[in-house]
Amino acid sequence: MELRTIETQNYTGKRVFMRVDFNVPVDKGVIIDDARIKASLPTIEYLLQKNASIILASHLGRPKGTPNPEMSLKVVAERLSNLLGGKEVRFIPDCIGDAVKDAASKLNAGDIMLLENLRFHKEEEEGNEEFAKQLAELADCYVNDAFGTCHRKHASIYGITKFFDSVAAGYLIEKEVAALTKLLENPERPFLVILGGAKVADKIGMIKNLLDKIDTFITGGVMAYTFIKAKNWEIGESKVEQDAVPLAKEIIREINKRHLEFHTPLDHIITDRISPDSHYFATERGAVPPNWMGVDIGPQAIEEYTDCIKRAKTIFWNGPMGIYEIKPFAKGTIELAKAIGETSAFSVIGGGDSIAAVNAAGVADKISHICTGGGASLEFLENGSLPGIDLLKK
Ligand code: ADP
Ligand code: MG
Repeated sequence: MELRTIETQNYTGKRVFMRVDFNVPVDKGVIIDDARIKASLPTIEYLLQKNASIILASHLGRPKGTPNPEMSLKVVAERLSNLLGGKEVRFIPDCIGDAVKDAASKLNAGDIMLLENLRFHKEEEEGNEEFAKQLAELADCYVNDAFGTCHRKHASIYGITKFFDSVAAGYLIEKEVAALTKLLENPERPFLVILGGAKVADKIGMIKNLLDKIDTFITGGVMAYTFIKAKNWEIGESKVEQDAVPLAKEIIREINKRHLEFHTPLDHIITDRISPDSHYFATERGAVPPNWMGVDIGPQAIEEYTDCIKRAKTIFWNGPMGIYEIKPFAKGTIELAKAIGETSAFSVIGGGDSIAAVNAAGVADKISHICTGGGASLEFLENGSLPGIDLLKK
């Protein structure tokens, strides 16, 4: 995919509206993880070096169209300023209106300002054209580096582009698209996909479109229980996404037709209570006995999955193998992360919890590419592009 990159545009003395994904986890006013802010730095630094002034815009959380101080981007302005070595990042407490316009018009070359949360206006998620136009009026050029939001036709991602002559993809989007395209076009084989986690309905669709490209598919977490249920095996009280069972059945049929290697866990860690001090043990088989719930893959599954990882040349992983936030149920996820860290395969990981697990396992720097957008990366793999990215093509 050929993107219109920032290097093809002229930014000298121009005001640039840069859509970023600063949707970072914030707890009681403190940023827990600033990876998404760091990921925007190469593009910001490039634009500054070209003597542009920058108007940054993002969403944070789900304020549903009303201002909410807990989801203010003010803390992000402070962190970004620190990351830029103390450079001033002016925070503007709204994203449209006369005061914002006035502040934007006063920017000098090399100045940066960050607008308040776009989603404080319901028009952002509605993709409202008038709202998009008001945002566009703030600047001369548009740069999109908000990979994690490109699957949404929101005003600042989608509608806004038609008001600019200069529209380009930032370095982060370039990097994300390159890594994901590598998975879709001639991946080195065997190509292994690992799906786990809890958001089964959001994730299961993507595997259908990948069946012609992959060799091995392994499952954990609630994803696995949805497939085990689809095989009509007992899952006890394990969490399952009932609505996704028919699609899981269909996927199993498609997998069998293609003779792909497909695994649900050979065994499970089961418990009767989700708590760090509850009783837990490994099952002998791939089913879960009545009244118990599966909370991690078991030791035999770890061995089998590790073997799949060792054989793979291309790996995509999304979703933990168990309730990794609770130590006794984290082993499957951590062991898999370590195994991926040890291979020389091209590895791509997406999903907030999956990335947290890779960090906890201490192998983040061994992963070929860590996606800043879990949902966006899945939709990209499902459809080969994203609405917001289509607008950035050459
Ligand atoms: P990601 O953030 O990587 O996209 P998800 O949000 O889909 O992943 O899933 C992560 C969540 O899934 C975690 O909170 C984890 O506790 C939960 N989970 C994993 N396995 C199970 C399980 N067997 N039962 C209940 N919850 C699970
Ligand atoms: Mg998650």
